[in-house]
This record gives sequence, structure tokens and C-alpha cells, in this order.
Amino acid sequence: MGPGITDGFVGAVGNTPLIRLNALSALTGCTILGKAEFMNPGGSVKDRAALGILLEAEQSGALQPGGTVVEGTAGNTGIGLTHLCNARGYKALIVIPETQSAEKIGLLRSLGAEVRTVPAVPYRDPNNYVKLSGRIAAETPGAIWANQFDNLANRRAHFNTTGPEIWQQTGGQVDAWVAATGTGGTYAGVALYLKQQNPRLRCVLADPHGSALYSWATSGELSSEGSSITEGIGNSRVTANLEDVPIDDAVRIDDQQALETIYQLLWQEGLFLGGSVGINVAAAVETARRLGPGHTIVTVLCDSGDRYRSRLYDAAWLASKGLQQPQPRQPVGAGL
Ligand code: PMP
Repeated sequence: MGPGITDGFVGAVGNTPLIRLNALSALTGCTILGKAEFMNPGGSVKDRAALGILLEAEQSGALQPGGTVVEGTAGNTGIGLTHLCNARGYKALIVIPETQSAEKIGLLRSLGAEVRTVPAVPYRDPNNYVKLSGRIAAETPGAIWANQFDNLANRRAHFNTTGPEIWQQTGGQVDAWVAATGTGGTYAGVALYLKQQNPRLRCVLADPHGSALYSWATSGELSSEGSSITEGIGNSRVTANLEDVPIDDAVRIDDQQALETIYQLLWQEGLFLGGSVGINVAAAVETARRLGPGHTIVTVLCDSGDRYRSRLYDAAWLASKGLQQPQPRQPVGAGL
């Protein structure tokens, strides 16, 4: 194969660009970089975890040809897994809370997954989507449970790919790593890799309201307040993927701030992105303020705004959540 040719869908996962966010870099005097995970072939950062989990299950023999992959997911892991199942000859059975965007649920069906939407209930409830997916996997012949929250293949995928890519792309010139966590796989895998290269690098956990991780990271106690319209991030517990991972600082971002950030990314950078990106990039800007000018900060651009057009980019939906749609302003740093 020629150097520019990838080996199928699998070969196209990863090696995403690291995009300099010019307006926000100008605003802060730092270099703020976003890993363009929305450019993965399945459209999100979760393609990497899905691939890592699938490859380890194949290697261990747990997943046999024609088998079924079962997962509980906020959407993106299911989308990545379904693409991969199609590419490698498996069936995908996806359990998803009915509160997730219609775009993600519809896309899963279009891709050919068997989709079960379930009421959103807390993790302690036996009918929580994650626990339910585990039970379905155990009861389905020839099925594996991807178990992204507690399967360390998830963070290994980021330790082996996302972390080294960031190190290479920055030539090792990176002062801070900032990311929100759902399973914790992305944050943890990259944090563990980058700390190994440079122990002085700061790892900053970003968190939405309604999640217990900000308080856990800052006070050791799992407690939460408020709620968030962001999808795929925040947690009420410390997953296996997030255990024993460096956290030097934590930043909590509210929904209005996240919204302002994704609209700013659209108008000033030309990037159309999802809500978790608003949390990540707003936390990267706050980290830039805390560190002062002259630092390089890397975060993740997890998925595209296309997955949330009927929500984050819809004035009436936002109003129904008590949020204001940001209005266009004169670009501040455009053209830099
Ligand atoms: N953003 C979005 C949109 C996601 O779907 C996810 C995955 N749940 C994340 C961020 C967080 O990634 P991770 O599971 O690796 O913590």
C-alpha cells in the first residue's frame, strides 16, 4: 500500500490534525490546540476506544466471527462500534438513554445497529443503560460487552495513539492537557502518556455541572449540583479508566459558557462542534488564564455540531432549557 493509503475504515481511525485555535490563542496569549477527533471516520473521539476494545476482544478470542458487540452508550461509542462491526463482520446492539439527541439515535439506526432506547436513570438503578447493556450481553449467545467505562482497553487506545500523536505534533512543546471525561478513557490515556514524557506537564480535568467529578478532583468527595445539556461527559462515579490518573487541576464550566464557546468556535474559527467541545475549550481558556501567556494547551474537539443541530444550534430548544442562543458578533481574532 502507498504511504497515503489507509487499510479500510480501521486504518482511517486516528492521526487527526491538531488545530490551532487562532482567535482564542490571540485572546489568551497562549497557544490553544484542539485535537480534531470529529475528523475520525465515525465522526468522534470514540472511534479510537471502540477500535481498541474490539481489537483486544478479537485478540483474546472473546469475539468470534459473526459475533455481537453489545454496549451502553451516549451515542458516539455506539456509532464507532457499529461502523467497525460493519467493517469486520459483527452485529452491534446498542442501549442508549432516550434523552440523547435524535441525530445520534437516528444515525445508529441508519448504520444498522439494533438500538434499544431506555429511560435515563441513575447508575445505582439496575435498569441504568450501562448495567442493562451488561445483562443483555451476558444473555446473548456469541456476544461481548464492550464495557467502555471499566474496560481499560479504552484508555490503552488513547495511551497508544492519541497521546503519542499529540506529543509528536507539538514536538513535545506542550504545557497542559485539558479534557472532560465520560468514561475517562481519553483524559486518562493521554494524561498517562504525556506525564510519562514530561512529569511537569499539567493535567486538567474539565467538568460540566451535574457531574460529581469536579468536586471529587478538588475535594475528594463525589457530589454534584445542577445539570447540563452536554452529552457524553460528566459522571457520578470514578470509572476504572479514571482510576490512578494524574489530575493537577480541575475546571467546572456551565452550559451558557459552553454554548458561547461553541458559537465562538463556529464564527471565529469556522469549526462546527458539539457541546462537550464547549466544556473542553472553555476549560482550556480558563487554564490559559491560570497559567499565564506563553503556554501551549491541548484539548479535544470530540465531535461535530451536526450531531446536535436540533438542540445546541436551535434557538427554541435552547430557550426551552432556559439558555440563550448566542448572537453573532464582529469576529475578534478572525483571519489570524
Ligand atoms: N464528548 C463526547 C461528545 C462523547 O461522546 C464522549 C464519550 N462519552 C466524550 C466527550 C468523553 O470521552 P471519554 O469517554 O473518553 O471520557
